[in-house]
Amino acid sequence: MSFENFDVVIIGAGLSGIGAGYRLQTRCPGKRYVIFEARPEVGGTWDLFRFPGVRSDSDMFTLAYPFRPWKEAKAIADGPAILNYVRETAHEFGIDRHIRFQHRVHSASWSSEDVRWLLEVKNGANGETVQCTCNFLYGCTGYYRYDAGYEPTFPGAEHFRGQFVHPQHWPEDLDYAGKRVVVIGSGATAVTLVPAMSRTAAHVTMLQRSPSYILSLPSQDAIASLLHRFLPVSAAHRIARWKNILIGLGIYQLCRHAPRVARRLLRQGAAKSLPHSYEIDKHFNPRYQPWDQRLCVAPDSDLFRSISEGRASVVTDQIDTFTEHGIRLQSGLQLEADIIVSATGLQMLALGAVHLKIDGEPIDPGSTFVYKGVMLSNVPNFAFCVGYVNASWTLRADLASTFVCRLLNHMDRQRYRTCRPVCDAASLKAKPLLNLTSGYV
Ligand SMILES: Cc1cc2nc3c(=O)[nH]c(=O)nc-3n(C[C@H](O)[C@H](O)[C@H](O)COP(=O)(O)OP(=O)(O)OC[C@H]3O[C@@H](n4cnc5c(N)ncnc54)[C@H](O)[C@@H]3O)c2cc1C
Repeated sequence: MSFENFDVVIIGAGLSGIGAGYRLQTRCPGKRYVIFEARPEVGGTWDLFRFPGVRSDSDMFTLAYPFRPWKEAKAIADGPAILNYVRETAHEFGIDRHIRFQHRVHSASWSSEDVRWLLEVKNGANGETVQCTCNFLYGCTGYYRYDAGYEPTFPGAEHFRGQFVHPQHWPEDLDYAGKRVVVIGSGATAVTLVPAMSRTAAHVTMLQRSPSYILSLPSQDAIASLLHRFLPVSAAHRIARWKNILIGLGIYQLCRHAPRVARRLLRQGAAKSLPHSYEIDKHFNPRYQPWDQRLCVAPDSDLFRSISEGRASVVTDQIDTFTEHGIRLQSGLQLEADIIVSATGLQMLALGAVHLKIDGEPIDPGSTFVYKGVMLSNVPNFAFCVGYVNASWTLRADLASTFVCRLLNHMDRQRYRTCRPVCDAASLKAKPLLNLTSGYV
């Protein structure tokens, strides 16, 4: 039987998949490629998340692609602006013409005899399963489940009479003006939601089991703005990008090599924007070292300002039970709420749940070794794209895509039909792909 054949199949049309499409068509222009995207839109994360205030943590000069400058004044940008940027990139370079929307890749089986992958792809529009083949498979599927966020079982949740919301499925019509809101969590999502909701809510309480590090940063990059006034856009972008890469690297190295100094500086940053009597050590001084988990960012100290102005507060405690009107804590304190938001994180998912097989044998990605952060040991003609977790995602995602292009060109020059990393698993020491201690990782 003959199926439609592609040189390369990219899975996913998020930030990474669109970047991969650009690299492929510019560096390997002869390759026929398609992008299968399960959703009806481009953008992945930036299309899925619609909660109030959704924004980047990273600056956009590094989160944006190196090949398409970020031109807006805000360096820490809101979700819709990032989504717009990804969509415009897809459109400007004609990458969108290669996307098949509502096509979820279900399985990929490598045949050594045919020297290609056979894919089963479910068309969400009509429910049909289509098959196609490709020589090289590139997974740009992100790292978490789209259908459900991580939500612990809260005791007594069934008693709560108000609205219960997860940020991953934000109800479009949720009216929180004048309402009492409790946001459970202390990660990036909670730190974003609390100041955003506190602008109109009666009061927002951030309920955390334990504190996170929060770094206050200006939302506008003054140096980048200056560069944009005097230099051509692409030169300004390149310089701002390198400046921010080096600053990010500096902060990360400081946190890893002088954690006590970093801890003191982060504490001082918080203290500067909070009232004198505020219990900083209770609410903003974590047990873990800086960068053992992702640092959260408060643009223009927004979280600290909403606390100082009495619009928001932080409670560090454990949930005893949900009640009809809110949450009772283990300390005995009651938090009254009309709305409870469970900003408790994501459910990790490897390779977009695509079932990989080689000659009929299923592959367990968790039992393989990773080569250069891009390929899996013994899996032929396959790569995946994971960004940095301690810097902007795109910096590494783009390295992955340029690596794939170099590999494909090398194979063509040498007339190789297959490539796969081979390792002697017994001689290697296993370590995790993501070096973070966050609960969800
Ligand atoms: C709220 C939030 C804020 C964030 N902020 C930052 C930040 O400031 N800086 C930063 O560096 N990172 C941030 N991240 C991480 C963020 O996910 C990355 O920046 C980036 O968007 C990941 O892009 P991606 O294309 O790799 O994955 P995604 O955005 O997850 O896109 C993956 C795409 O693949 C599709 N897909 C998955 N499986 C399949 C399949 N089997 N078949 C077909 N299609 C499939 C999905 O539908 C999706 O469209 C944030 C994440 C979240 C959730």
